[in-house]
Amino acid sequence: MLFSELFAVHLQQLKSGELSTAVEALIENAFAMNRSQFWIRKNQPVRDAAGLRKFRKHFARLLAHEPLAYILGEKEFFGEVFYVNPAVLIPRPETELLVEKALDLAGSKTLRILDIGAGSGNISVIMALKSAAQITAVDRSRPALRVLKKNIVRFGLQKRIRVMAADLFPKQNEPFDMIIANPPYLSGKEWRESPAGIKLFEPEAALLAGPTGTEVLARIIAGAPQHLTPCGHVLLEIGRGQLRAVRGFLKSARLREMDTICDYSGIARVVVACR
Ligand code: GLN
Repeated sequence: MLFSELFAVHLQQLKSGELSTAVEALIENAFAMNRSQFWIRKNQPVRDAAGLRKFRKHFARLLAHEPLAYILGEKEFFGEVFYVNPAVLIPRPETELLVEKALDLAGSKTLRILDIGAGSGNISVIMALKSAAQITAVDRSRPALRVLKKNIVRFGLQKRIRVMAADLFPKQNEPFDMIIANPPYLSGKEWRESPAGIKLFEPEAALLAGPTGTEVLARIIAGAPQHLTPCGHVLLEIGRGQLRAVRGFLKSARLREMDTICDYSGIARVVVACR
């Protein structure tokens, strides 16, 4: 069998062209090829039996709706590759908007940043790589903290990112110049209606906030003023249709909305506020 046949036969089984890049990625991974090697070797026979076994095992997982990122154990975010497993949310492209805005505000200042619900550490790591900030990354999930630490070591950022186990805010009362969070913001209904790949594999605690979806955003905003320096900023990723509720929370917490950024599909996705 040729690589091109291996590709075509398995793509057919998926009954959806959408996953063609996933099948290609699995072949590249199983046979240790990069993209151009795959295209060059397309019409060569598949001889590596171990590679074929690995590909077939991974492909069965894809058929069972497992996200490619968990099968490969990595996901690209903001041009860097992060280690991921089902203990953490797979970094999403929308979250790059949040990080871009945070980088804009941080400039070259040595800010103290709090990353709430750090998960894989994608936000903390990019902030540390691309700004002068000192970061405190918090998550309440022990298995997620293991992934977070692994990524910090992967990028050699042990001196820039401090890890803490906490539910939202660290216990001690030190102020931060910036609080960033991509918190769980799905409602019960949205979670129940999520695609199988998300519902069966991604951590519920990273996605589901509660019946309305804004429960965790409300808690973060209510607690933020106490943990912010006088001119400190809060940057939050929010879900579809949540801007009104979030504006209400900001008002109650006496935080001033500075900016709202829409994602590629026009949904208000990132809210920036300050004290
Ligand atoms: N901070 C991580 C991310 O943005 C995890 C977020 C979460 O688990 N809700 O991808």
